[in-house]
Amino acid sequence: MTAPSATSAPDAAPPAKPSLLGLTRGELADALRGLDLPEREIRMRVNQLWNWIYFHGVRDFDAMLNVSKVLRARLADRFTLARPEVVSEQVSTDGTRKWLIRMPPVDARDKGVEIECVYIPEADRGTLCVSSQVGCTLTCTFCHTGTQKLVRNLTTQEIVAQLVVAREKLGDFPGLTPPDDGIVPSGEGVRAVSNVVFMGMGEPLYNLDNVCDALAIMSDGDGLSLSKRRITVSTSGVVPQIGELGARSGAMLAISLHAVRDDLRDKLVPLNKKYDIAELLQACRDYPGASNARRITFEYVMLKGVNDSDADARELVRLLKGIPAKINLIPFNPWPGAPYECSDWGRIEKFSDIVFNAGYASPVRTPRGRDILAACGQLKSETEKLRARARLAAE
Ligand code: SAH
Ligand code: SF4
Repeated sequence: MTAPSATSAPDAAPPAKPSLLGLTRGELADALRGLDLPEREIRMRVNQLWNWIYFHGVRDFDAMLNVSKVLRARLADRFTLARPEVVSEQVSTDGTRKWLIRMPPVDARDKGVEIECVYIPEADRGTLCVSSQVGCTLTCTFCHTGTQKLVRNLTTQEIVAQLVVAREKLGDFPGLTPPDDGIVPSGEGVRAVSNVVFMGMGEPLYNLDNVCDALAIMSDGDGLSLSKRRITVSTSGVVPQIGELGARSGAMLAISLHAVRDDLRDKLVPLNKKYDIAELLQACRDYPGASNARRITFEYVMLKGVNDSDADARELVRLLKGIPAKINLIPFNPWPGAPYECSDWGRIEKFSDIVFNAGYASPVRTPRGRDILAACGQLKSETEKLRARARLAAE
């Protein structure tokens, strides 16, 4: 496994022609109106473009065979289908892949941003972990992203591009070939990326409009076609936006709970001081569409001597009574200078037994892609450090 090498600074100027990739149907319609197409044609043309861009994943207007040559030329004159650049790709021994993606500047003030995106293949699914922001305004004390300032929200285009880039890299558009490593799920009717989780960088509910638009594009049956039941948005507990997320997007919900008492959660997830555990759980009870078939995931990071006692486990089970819930115990991923350690394996097993005996199945999340620093809370920051090290080594 090689560390990503040093790369030049992100682009300084926005691209001369905007890309249509990642636009909503409404934005595509506006783009076509800008070409002075008659209004009666717009809907049909949007449908055509949609199918080529999101179902076929084409990179060139000339591949759009049912669009006239004249219109293809006019489109190419004003727009592109450019994807953000994949700066590096790392493949873990367990098949986990991590891409460093460079997003071009969105306007004259922006310098462009780089984000990481992780793909985790399993026997029955392939999960893509996407980011919604660069950095985070929240300061959860166990999370490395929380030590970095918010740079900016990702746009809808940038969120959708993460899925398109992954599908392309995994040969998951018609006519492309999947990597032949036996690890990426493939075959008739099987998608390499079957699930998306918003568990990369950032707090998705602080970028709700763009996240909801991205979810609509990702789940559109005429395009990328991801089932909404396979898209999960993880939040640290932005209570006022939780209901809105459910009502607008129909996404699955994950809550970063991590503590069962307010005094401790105030420290681990400082947003708890604003919205406490009782309010958060009430928002979960009210979450539109939650049911035994559509359970809410409660994430719980295992911190040695902090939140990992038997009493904590029992309280967790008690708190979640009556909520259609799944529990996901996450071994803490340490980072340099982190004020916590991961609970011992025996402790995690004991904790998980209590949760299991209360009726929750196999709750421990196996750490994946550790050799390529692809784990939760390690995204980007570690690459930046490795890159700085590589730069120093090259000097
Ligand atoms: N901001 C959102 C989503 C991104 S974080 C949220 O907080 O839910 C995705 C998950 O990774 C969260 O459950 C978060 O608590 C967890 N996480 C962050 N840092 C971690 C670390 N160092 N070890 C284990 N899990 C971590
Ligand atoms: Fe932000 Fe989530 Fe990290 Fe908290 S855990 S700092 S909300 S990314």
